[in-house]
Amino acid sequence: MRRISVLTSGGDAPGMNAAIRAVVRTSLNNGWEVFGIRRGYAGLIAGDFVPLGARDVGGIIQLGGTMLGTGRCQEFKTDEGRAQALRNLRHKEIEALVVIGGDGSQYGSYLLSQTGFPVVGIASTIDNDLYGSEITIGVDTALNIALESIDRLKVTASSHRRAFLVEVMGGDSGYLALMAGITGGAEVVVLPEMEIKPEQVAKELRAAYERGKAHAIVVVAEGARYNARALSAHFQEHQERLGFELRVTALGHVQRGGAPGAFDRLLATRFGVAAVRQVETNEYGVLVGLLKGEVSATSLLDVILNRKTIDLQLLEVARILAQ
Ligand code: ADP
Repeated sequence: MRRISVLTSGGDAPGMNAAIRAVVRTSLNNGWEVFGIRRGYAGLIAGDFVPLGARDVGGIIQLGGTMLGTGRCQEFKTDEGRAQALRNLRHKEIEALVVIGGDGSQYGSYLLSQTGFPVVGIASTIDNDLYGSEITIGVDTALNIALESIDRLKVTASSHRRAFLVEVMGGDSGYLALMAGITGGAEVVVLPEMEIKPEQVAKELRAAYERGKAHAIVVVAEGARYNARALSAHFQEHQERLGFELRVTALGHVQRGGAPGAFDRLLATRFGVAAVRQVETNEYGVLVGLLKGEVSATSLLDVILNRKTIDLQLLEVARILAQ
């Protein structure tokens, strides 16, 4: 009989529940016992373990968020915090830990695995900035939510001569903003990876109207230097000179809360099953992700040493397609 545990950590992402369900039911099918850990690493340090049976993970695959709760835990960044976490795992006679989360969480996974404890990570963040997975759990759903808002704003923007600015999440990464800009047909995309000044944004919006466009949409990543707040302040200050209003919509956490779509449910399910296979074969210290369309394992060391970047050529694609 093996005993394994699972937690969700950092920013929640739609599909985390599907991953928990897959880890639990695949493990139970192997005849193992599973413990869920509440509130991420904070619960690991506090010893907040809860046994999970097949029915406990029923009715959650369609829900966003995470049934286990998640959290940010400074204490886990300390040696003492991680030592306490390890004591709790050993006390419960748990043989492996599955960590569902983004880059910060996987840094924690790496440090824990360095102590010799068996850890497997599952790539989950709406930011899509995690090395070792070309797409992570939650990205597709978050992108679709951003898109739905952009589509709606386009309708109202076409009725009035107003420019709309939509700020999307993504932390320091412009991935969501870039993809939302391309698929939503935005006139301007503003990313942390490529600085564009407010005056340039205004110039491009004006040029869009001059080309006969009925609307002008700017998609801005929250991590951009000139984010929604900075751009809207600039446009307000210079409204007369610039010649039009800029209405701002910051999607914020609305983007996280959606029900996971089919893509994220399937991705999370495949990752959950694969994480249990890693435990079966005693191959630890890895992150389960998607590489070249295949579910793959990448060493946590590589994950923490590298950062995934976005393809900036796509920014040019966005510009060409917005003509
Ligand atoms: P995400 O996993 O979504 O990127 P965070 O970056 O907030 O989210 O990280 C989640 C948690 O992972 C942190 O609150 C902390 O407990 C743990 N963590 C992050 N960075 C480290 C680190 N350098 N060392 C140990 N634990 C870390």
